[in-house]
Amino acid sequence: MKAIQLFSTLILTAMTVPNFSQNQTEVDRISTSAGDVEIFFIGHGSLMFRTGGYVIHIDPVRSSGSYEKLPEADLILVTHEHYDHLDTSLIKKLKKTLTVMFGNAASAEKVPWSQVMKPGDVRTAAGIKIEAVAAYNLVNERSKGSPFHPKGVGNGYILTIGDKRFYAAGDTENTPEMKALKDIDVAFLPMNLPYTMTPEMVADAAKAFRPGILYPYHFGDTDTDKLAGLLKGTGIEVRIRNMK
Ligand code: ZN
Ligand code: ZN
Repeated sequence: MKAIQLFSTLILTAMTVPNFSQNQTEVDRISTSAGDVEIFFIGHGSLMFRTGGYVIHIDPVRSSGSYEKLPEADLILVTHEHYDHLDTSLIKKLKKTLTVMFGNAASAEKVPWSQVMKPGDVRTAAGIKIEAVAAYNLVNERSKGSPFHPKGVGNGYILTIGDKRFYAAGDTENTPEMKALKDIDVAFLPMNLPYTMTPEMVADAAKAFRPGILYPYHFGDTDTDKLAGLLKGTGIEVRIRNMK
């Protein structure tokens, strides 16, 4: 297509879909026995779920994407205290009187009204079951003997909403705890090197616990096509969204 034609096509598209902007947050809808869950792909490791008017922010961080049009939180989940997962000033802005926050110990320390969860802990909020899963590195380390995410520090979370289970893994590798998970319908796994997993590691984990839908997230410049290729024919649906 010639440049001029492309240009006029773009203008036409912009005119026919007036609200479309490149920065618009993508939204997927997953149906559960408790109603639909809308997933907002804010960017990087930041997600928002909305179900029946109840709003869950996972690792809300302003540098991940736009929060301007997003609602305040009923529930906030923070996986760990790294700057791209814990943003105390945004949390302040998203907090309402009755907002509940769960975080790992180091995050909870920085948000006095929040509550600590450690791997294995289970809580319930508004009928949603929340389970904390260990999140840590097996091989990738900052320097010899000091992993980017040491075992015992960070969390991932499983949310059970109606009959569906959603797993946001946090910053982690393909740990035995992850590979032993059962009945995960929707998984978000990090693929950002050198901090978390290669596509091979994500594929290894996915083949072990077999989520229905897999969204790689927090993937930086890692090649998402490679992951899709590795999982071709496994029956696991790989969905790529704008989650650099
Ligand atoms: Zn991290
Ligand atoms: Zn991170």
